[in-house]
Amino acid sequence: MAVPKKKTSPSRRGMRRSHEALSAAAYQECPNCGELMRPHNVCSHCGYYHGREVVASGNQRKALKHTVRA
Ligand SMILES: [Zn+2]
Repeated sequence: MAVPKKKTSPSRRGMRRSHEALSAAAYQECPNCGELMRPHNVCSHCGYYHGREVVASGNQRKALKHTVRA
């Protein structure tokens, strides 16, 4: 097993950990419904992306299921 030759100093440890900070996730308001959404992703609330609905959501999805059965 590889073993470190020297104890890591507090300075070295701090320099290593200077790159470990987590950044906050990016969010923006959906232009269609105003819900918070990740940029460059389909809105999980209304299913819109770039000004048009790309995923059926909520009541419309239920209505679609109903039309398939009928
Ligand atoms: Zn939305």
